[in-house]
Amino acid sequence: MVRLGIDIGGTFIKFCAEAGGEIKKGKIPTEKNLKSVLTALKKIKADFSPDRVGVAVAGLYDKKTGKLTASPNIKFLEGLEIKELIEEELKTPVVVENDASAAAYGEYIYGAGKGGKIVVCLTLGTGLGGGLVVNGSLVSGVSGSAMEIGHTTVDMDGWHCHCGRKGCLEAYVSSYGLERIYFFLTDQKLSSMEIITLANEGNLKAIKALDEFSGYLAVGLMNVLHIFNPDKVIIGGGIPEHYPAVIDLAVSVLKEKAFKLPFRDAQIKKAELGEFSGAFGALALAGDKR
Ligand SMILES: [Zn+2]
Repeated sequence: MVRLGIDIGGTFIKFCAEAGGEIKKGKIPTEKNLKSVLTALKKIKADFSPDRVGVAVAGLYDKKTGKLTASPNIKFLEGLEIKELIEEELKTPVVVENDASAAAYGEYIYGAGKGGKIVVCLTLGTGLGGGLVVNGSLVSGVSGSAMEIGHTTVDMDGWHCHCGRKGCLEAYVSSYGLERIYFFLTDQKLSSMEIITLANEGNLKAIKALDEFSGYLAVGLMNVLHIFNPDKVIIGGGIPEHYPAVIDLAVSVLKEKAFKLPFRDAQIKKAELGEFSGAFGALALAGDKR
């Protein structure tokens, strides 16, 4: 039997295929349109002929209708009956889950969250995703939209978020949040990865931008500690992957400002599966009855 986990992102489809106890992983670049995503899925089907498939996708996936009701960072998938669409394409039943929830489950089963009782995972990418695993079960809400940490409000009149609201945590703690922080400091428009490269080279403005970013990350993490009292908090995505100091800086703020009890018992660390957390989670969920 071949199990397959797929993570559909804005620019890549990442996958993990498991057969005979061996896991192969890879990624296929996609353009920002549905046709390109379907072409990549066809290739994966041809390469692996999976029997069971899990799919991770960014956005609010309605478990009751199989529809992706909102996807601020992958607009072309918004409103699609994504479960049915992929099942038709792959000719096999699929389990769909929000990408950040899948990432949390992936880290719980295969990565930094192993053995945790209450595991919260934040994924800092284009947006800011959240996932929660409690006593081994993924908690994704009645309809699938729990743990939208990125869209918790931290400032009612704050910066615009891709979701259309103001002052969401994601408006600060995401790649576009970092780009905006840097722009306000320097009047220069650089990509988040360019800013991180500059910071790693010792550029003081870039370092300052990432310091500010870490302060906002600390706000998000403090809320997580105070709501969930978790034993493991995992932080994944491109920004901590290439600039892990954001985690240390945020933790130093928490040490000073968070309640002592939840801070004492929370291990806060970087994700271990890198950009494949979501695909691994989708793999773990493949064949699940949801
Ligand atoms: Zn938002």
